[in-house]
Amino acid sequence: MMHYTGTIWRPPYEASSLLLEVTAGCTHHRCKFCTLYTDLPFKFRMSPLEDIEADLKEAQKMYRPFIGRKPARTFLTGANPFVLKYDRLMEIAELIHKFFPRMETIGSFARVTDVTQKSDGELTALHEAGYDRLTIGIETADDEALKFMNKGYFAADILEQCKRLEQAGIRYSFFYLTGISGAGRGEIGAKATAAVCNKLHPLLIGANMLTIYPDSELYQEIRHGNWKEERETEKYREVRTLVEALEIPVIFAALGASNAFQMQETLPRDKEKLLAFLDNVIKNVGEDELRRYRESVRHL
Ligand code: SF4
Repeated sequence: MMHYTGTIWRPPYEASSLLLEVTAGCTHHRCKFCTLYTDLPFKFRMSPLEDIEADLKEAQKMYRPFIGRKPARTFLTGANPFVLKYDRLMEIAELIHKFFPRMETIGSFARVTDVTQKSDGELTALHEAGYDRLTIGIETADDEALKFMNKGYFAADILEQCKRLEQAGIRYSFFYLTGISGAGRGEIGAKATAAVCNKLHPLLIGANMLTIYPDSELYQEIRHGNWKEERETEKYREVRTLVEALEIPVIFAALGASNAFQMQETLPRDKEKLLAFLDNVIKNVGEDELRRYRESVRHL
């Protein structure tokens, strides 16, 4: 049996990747809105190399009967496996290539701060070893929201560390969290995020919508009157503002269950189409219906 601990999260576009557990949980574990990885009895754990090797051996057996269906990509699981030290990431890449010599790329979720600790030379060597197309949950580039939510970095860090990834040849996608700026500030957050994205080259910006659960710290902040949630229609105006302000070629997607309306389009080509779709939601779907959807999202 492959070692999979707790709920395994992966981006929608990693559906055909080999999911390999090299970590479980999150080293940060402090974002106020987050209720992910709370089903684990620990905050963060690194998998023993023996477990990783045993899983690769098993995966090799599973793929053998399906000639021609070899995975071309591995997705390392956990909230931020890219936090692992350079040497460990290189050992993992070596193991993957030992069992799957034709594996082309290795991806994972990453925090901005995971990049900070690696030298430029290390990033380049990681890229040469196959690391590419990371998914970074920046959430926003609105410093006020990043501070309040305890994300552990600011807009300037996103810019600096993603430029370093680009220099090393490592491509990446972003997750954006619609609603993170709070009532009355959605469009401010969207503009701040677009301004940072416009200086970078993410492959895709995937928007999720804030859904607040009672076991989050944010829920307590709301109860104490320290923070106010955006109305659902404000969240859609925020998405519209973000799409409108993006000037770079990028795929814009909103695919997860937190979005009442799913969308994926290529910018700038499909910008007008996407804006018209969002205008239609804002104009014709009322707050009550959107709120009912939000309340129906029992878990992410
Ligand atoms: S949002 Fe991501 S970085 Fe923040 S605590 Fe949750 S898993 Fe960790």
